[in-house]
Amino acid sequence: MDFDLTQEQKMFQDMAKEFAQREIAPIARDLDRNEKFPHDLIPKMGEQGLFAIKIPSEYGGMDLDWTTLGLVAEQFGSVDFSTGLTYYIQTSLEAMPILTAGTEEQKKKYVPALVQGKITGCTAAVEPNVGSDATAVETTAVLDGDSWVLNGNKTWITNASVADFAVVVAQTDKSKGHKGIATFVVDKGTPGFSSTKITNKLGCRSTDTGQLFFRDCRIPRSSQLGPVGKGMSTALTCIEHTRFGIAWMGLGVTRGCLEASIKYCQERKQFGKPIGSFQLVQERIADMLVDLEASRLLVYQAAHLKDKGLPSTREVSIAKYHNIEVAVRATKTAVELHGAYGYTDDFPVERFYRDIIGPLIFGGTANVQRLLLGRMILGIDAISR
Ligand SMILES: Cc1cc2nc3c(=O)[nH]c(=O)nc-3n(C[C@H](O)[C@H](O)[C@H](O)COP(=O)(O)OP(=O)(O)OC[C@H]3O[C@@H](n4cnc5c(N)ncnc54)[C@H](O)[C@@H]3O)c2cc1C
Repeated sequence: MDFDLTQEQKMFQDMAKEFAQREIAPIARDLDRNEKFPHDLIPKMGEQGLFAIKIPSEYGGMDLDWTTLGLVAEQFGSVDFSTGLTYYIQTSLEAMPILTAGTEEQKKKYVPALVQGKITGCTAAVEPNVGSDATAVETTAVLDGDSWVLNGNKTWITNASVADFAVVVAQTDKSKGHKGIATFVVDKGTPGFSSTKITNKLGCRSTDTGQLFFRDCRIPRSSQLGPVGKGMSTALTCIEHTRFGIAWMGLGVTRGCLEASIKYCQERKQFGKPIGSFQLVQERIADMLVDLEASRLLVYQAAHLKDKGLPSTREVSIAKYHNIEVAVRATKTAVELHGAYGYTDDFPVERFYRDIIGPLIFGGTANVQRLLLGRMILGIDAISR
C-alpha cells in the first residue's frame, strides 16, 4: 500500500481544503442555527468538479479514484460534517444507484446534471417500520399495464424535501421476500408523490432530512431501476459507498477537533500557564492524535482495496464503526478542553459534538456494523431473520 498521494490527489485535497475554508466555514454556524440547506453551494461544488471524481467520463465525470473522493470528504468533514454529508451523498446515494442499476437513458438523464450540481436526488430505503431490518420493505409497487403504482411512506431520507428525484426501494411481491424488492426513480412533481422536511434534529441540521409519501403514485415502467429482485443489492451497494465516505468524514471531524483543541490549549491560560502545559490536558491531546492516526490508516486501507476493485465490505465497516466511535470521543474531548466556551456555538466543536451522533445511526447503526463484522468473523448470521 502506497501512502504517497499522487499530484492529482494532492490537488483535489488542496482544492477541497480551500473550498471548505472559503465557502463553508464562514456560513456553517448560520446554516446549522437556521436549519438551512446550502442550495448555493451545490452548483459551486459542481463547477469545481468535486462531484465528478468517481463518475465515468461518458456522464461528465473524471473517472478518478476512491482515495481522491475520500480526501475531499475528509476536508469537508474537518470543517462541517453536515455540509460534507450533503456533498458526499450527491455521489454515493444519488449518482451511484443510477450508475449501478440504471439504463443508458436513465444515466444520461440524471448523472451529468448531478455532476454539474444542477439537480439533487435522494435514495429512500428506510420507512416508519423498517430501519435496520431493511428487507422488511412495506412500500409496494404494483404493475398495472405499462405503469408501476407506488404506495407507502419513507422516512429519515437525506435530501427528501430538496430532491429533484427519488430512488425508491419498494416491494413488488411480498411472498418473494427480498427477491421481490426493486428500485424505481420517481421525479419530483409526479402526481401522488410528496415530501416533508423533518426539523429540530440534534445535528446535521443543514442537511435536509425528511419523509416521502406515495399515494397511488403512477410512474412509467421505464422508471424501474434495474431488475426486480436486485433492488436491495443496489441499495446496499450504495449504502456501502456512503459508509466509506462517512468514515472519511469521521476522520475529518477528529482532525477538526484535534486542530481546534491544540490551538485553544496553546492560547487559553489558567494558573498562569497555557492549559496545554498541564499533563492531563496533554494526555487528552495525545489520545486524540493516536485515534486520528488509526482512523486515517483504516480509511486508507479501505480506499486502497476499493481502488484495486478488491472486496472491501469488511474494511469499510471497520473504518465506519471505528472512525465514528473515535470521532464521538474526540468531539467530547474537544468540548471539554474548550471549557464553557466549547458549550456554545461560538466554537465549531459544539457543532461537531452534535453532528457526529447522526452517523452512529445512518449508513447502518454501530450495532449493525458490529453484527456485519461478527457474521464475517464467526460465520454465524445474527442479523437476518
Ligand atoms: C440524519 C439521518 C439521515 C438519514 N438518511 C437516510 C437516507 O438518505 N436514506 C435512507 O433510506 N435512510 C436514511 N436514514 C435512516 C437510517 O438509515 C436509519 O435510521 C438506520 O438504518 C436505523 O434505523 P432506525 O432508525 O429505524 O433504527 P432501528 O433499526 O429501529 O434501531 C434502533 C436501535 O436498535 C438497534 N438494533 C436494531 N436491530 C438490531 C439487532 N438485530 N441487533 C442489535 N441491535 C439492533 C439499532 O442498532 C439501534 O440502536 C437516515 C437517518 C438519519 C438520522
